[in-house]
Amino acid sequence: MEETERIFFSRLKRAGKLVADAVYPPACAVCGSPLGEWSGDGVHEACREKLKPVEEPLCAKCGKHINSEEMLCDDCQKYDHIFDQAVSVFAYNDAIKQGIYRFKYKNKREYAGVFAAAAVQGAGRLIKMWDPDVIVPVPMYHKKKRVRGYNQAELLAKKTGELLGVPVDVDFLIRTRKTAPMKEVEKKGRLRNVKDAFEAQTEKEGVYTKVLLVDDIITTGYTLDECAKALKKAGVKEVNALTLCSGEGF
Ligand SMILES: [Zn+2]
Ligand SMILES: [Zn+2]
Repeated sequence: MEETERIFFSRLKRAGKLVADAVYPPACAVCGSPLGEWSGDGVHEACREKLKPVEEPLCAKCGKHINSEEMLCDDCQKYDHIFDQAVSVFAYNDAIKQGIYRFKYKNKREYAGVFAAAAVQGAGRLIKMWDPDVIVPVPMYHKKKRVRGYNQAELLAKKTGELLGVPVDVDFLIRTRKTAPMKEVEKKGRLRNVKDAFEAQTEKEGVYTKVLLVDDIITTGYTLDECAKALKKAGVKEVNALTLCSGEGF
């Protein structure tokens, strides 16, 4: 294991223990099997090794790994994002894909603590530099939330806010209409899918200057862009984003 990875995970373990005191995760956030006696950071020792931080160099805009010496990834060179900067915590692989899948669709709400701890350890320094006044989760359409029972981005935002000591506002931004999951939409239809689908509360206009948006994944970045657009329309000057992972197929 690389030195940076080792530091990342020893910090992750420590932060995870703090979280585990508040929320005991009954199952491993990577493999989904029971954790047994030793709760640790909510992930089996062996499973933890499967979670990797995003490898540098990173795109200065969207935070995805890039292979070149350029500042921006190919997508960000072609497309001007509305959000200011984004960071992802984990490199895309099967382990994190499975974990996020259960977090989203299998009622594994307790994973929020594990993932938030990892987010704070992996991206805490950058977030502190961004210095957000408030954390805002990417909202779910209210009818969808009623069916699922929770919005995983909201859970993640709340836990991250607790750990960072930054307030969380779950009502500031709303999704005004039903949108299809991005993985089900063809690439060229993705922008249209989320276009103008968000609205920030007008009565809170001008209350926040710097917002940290939180979501579970970033694919094209269009969802974050449309959220950022609505936030900026409500007077927010800077919108940065934290996601667990970037990639397709969630
Ligand atoms: Zn496991
Ligand atoms: Zn990029």
